[in-house]
Amino acid sequence: MTVLQLGAITVQRIVEHEIPVYAPADFFAEATAAAVEPYRAWLEPKALCPRTGLMIMPVVSYLVRTRHHCILIDTCVGCHKTYAEPPQWHQRGNAVWLSNLQAAGAHPEDIDYVFCTHLHSDHCGWNTQLVDGRWLPTFPNAKYVFARDEYQALEKENHPIFIDNVQPIMEARQAVLVDLDYALDDEIWLEPAVGHTVGHVAVHLKSGQHRATMCGDLIHTPLQLAEPGWSPTFEYDIAASTHTRKTFLEAHCETDTLVLTSHFPSPSMGHIVTRGNNYDFRYVSSD
Ligand SMILES: [Zn+2]
Repeated sequence: MTVLQLGAITVQRIVEHEIPVYAPADFFAEATAAAVEPYRAWLEPKALCPRTGLMIMPVVSYLVRTRHHCILIDTCVGCHKTYAEPPQWHQRGNAVWLSNLQAAGAHPEDIDYVFCTHLHSDHCGWNTQLVDGRWLPTFPNAKYVFARDEYQALEKENHPIFIDNVQPIMEARQAVLVDLDYALDDEIWLEPAVGHTVGHVAVHLKSGQHRATMCGDLIHTPLQLAEPGWSPTFEYDIAASTHTRKTFLEAHCETDTLVLTSHFPSPSMGHIVTRGNNYDFRYVSSD
C-alpha cells in the first residue's frame, strides 16, 4: 500500500471498491456520446471502461498521520446502509474497507479525528456501524468534524443518511460542528468548496513546504479536467459547483500541491497539469 510522505505527514489511500458505476450521461447533461467520443482514448481504460462505457470511480478515504493526530478524511459507503442508489452501495455486507484500514496499520480506536468533505452516502458511511441493531460510531475515540452548514441542511431534511451516519455521532457527543474555514492546527484545515452540497469543503494539509488537498466531490472524474464546465445534474447549486471547480483547478494547476481525489481511478492521487487549454492529471507512482 502506497504511503506518501508529505514532510512530517503521511497519507495513505483506503479503498472500499473501484468499479465502473455511472455513464457520463448519468452525471452530465452535456455528456452525449458525441461529446465524450473525443476523450475516450485519453480516458480508457483507467477512467472509462472500454467495454461498458461506464466511468470507473473508486470510493476512497484518506488516512493522514501528523505528528499529533491520526485522521481519516471521508469514510466511504459503509456496511448495511439503506441507500437509494446505486445498488452496489445498498446494504453492503463487505467490510473490506475496514480490513484495508487495519492493513494500513490503523485500528478504529487509533483514529482521533474524522473529517467529512460532505455528507453524501459515499463520504460518511463508515462514520457508524451496526452493533446489536444500533448505529454506533465506528471510531470510539474520534472527534468527527462536520461543516455546520452541511450538518444543519441534512438535519433539517431528517435524511436517512443523517439518521444512520450522523445523528449517532451527535448522540455520542463526538461531533464537532465548525465553520467552513475551520483549522484544526497549522497542518490541517478546511476551505469552503460549496456547490456539490451546501456545506462542501476541501481539506488542506501542509507540512513545511509540502502541501496536499483532499478535494472531495468538487470534481468527480478526469473527464471534468477536459470539460471543467461540466457539473453533475444532481449538484445542490450547479453554478456554484462550476465556479468552485474552475477556481480549484486554476489555483492548483502546475503547482506542487498533491491533490487527493475521491473518485479518480487508482491511485487517485496526483497533480493537476495543463493539457491544451484545459487540464490533465499526473498520477503519483504507486505500488
Ligand atoms: Zn462522492
